[in-house]
Amino acid sequence: MKEKLDDLLRKALGELAASSSDDALQEIRVRYLGKKGELTAIMKGLGGVPAEDRPALGQAVNTLKDRIEEEYKSKLSVIRDVKKAEKLRSERIDVTLPGRRRSIGTKHPITLVTEEITEIFAGLGFQVAEGPEIELDFYNFEALNIPKDHPARDMQDSFYINENILLRTHTSPVQIRTMLKHAPPIRIIAPGTVYRCDSDATHSPMFHQVEGLLVDKGISFGDLKGILTIFVNQYFGKGTGVRLRPSFFPFTEPSAEVDIACVMCKGNGCRICKNTGWLEILGAGMVDPEVFRHVKYDSEANTGFAFGMGIERIAMLKYGIKDMRLLFENDMRFLNQF
Ligand SMILES: [Zn+2]
Repeated sequence: MKEKLDDLLRKALGELAASSSDDALQEIRVRYLGKKGELTAIMKGLGGVPAEDRPALGQAVNTLKDRIEEEYKSKLSVIRDVKKAEKLRSERIDVTLPGRRRSIGTKHPITLVTEEITEIFAGLGFQVAEGPEIELDFYNFEALNIPKDHPARDMQDSFYINENILLRTHTSPVQIRTMLKHAPPIRIIAPGTVYRCDSDATHSPMFHQVEGLLVDKGISFGDLKGILTIFVNQYFGKGTGVRLRPSFFPFTEPSAEVDIACVMCKGNGCRICKNTGWLEILGAGMVDPEVFRHVKYDSEANTGFAFGMGIERIAMLKYGIKDMRLLFENDMRFLNQF
């Protein structure tokens, strides 16, 4: 019996030493020590051993078990160490390699222009004001001196949600909301998205405006021209010509269209300015007393001016973009140029 056990131990240790994987080790352990293993088979033959020899034999069996178990564990840890070392080697990081470049996005030209314009007016003491894009008829038309059936409502084909609610057709309702909330003096700039039923190379159903409003005591048309001239000189370059032409808007009186000397040909005449040497960039005027009446301002004590411009138009002039639709197609080849 002792010899059998010695044989078994030799065989088991030999196999353990020769194996090189977790699975193989496990398989050997089960084959020798498992319930249906070789040692169990030997133990079943113990019946024939004399009673006085049994304790010694039992001890021999235990020693053998311990030896195999011990050998199994030490071999297992060796194999795992090797594996770990291999893994570390394969995952080694070469810190001298250059990092992966992250492509950094650029600001959309509309955002750029909005920020630049806002910054110039902020420097002149104007504060940014905002309002909802879904607007009540009162703020979008009525309070701006555009009553129902007013011909001016035909000037702007609007997206109505119902009879009383629409997508704002201009940023002017922000003026009304601000004046209803605050007493004069007012000095705001209101950039935002506006909507009109219109779509071609120079019109988009969704576009952006920036609007300014200044109300205080003794504000004159000269102040309006002064502020706009400062803006044009800062934005389009020092010495850019500015010209005001009489115009009509329901919410200002008198009203003016503001032209700048063509940024392409410097006023000599080209295709962009249709050979006039001038480009129209915004509309402006003195706030109509009728608008003040709607917001309960005393139009005897206060005067003010308002102006508004299309951000897309400014962006197209600044960057020489010919088709407004490019601004909304989100073609990366186009947007990456900014
Ligand atoms: Zn020109």
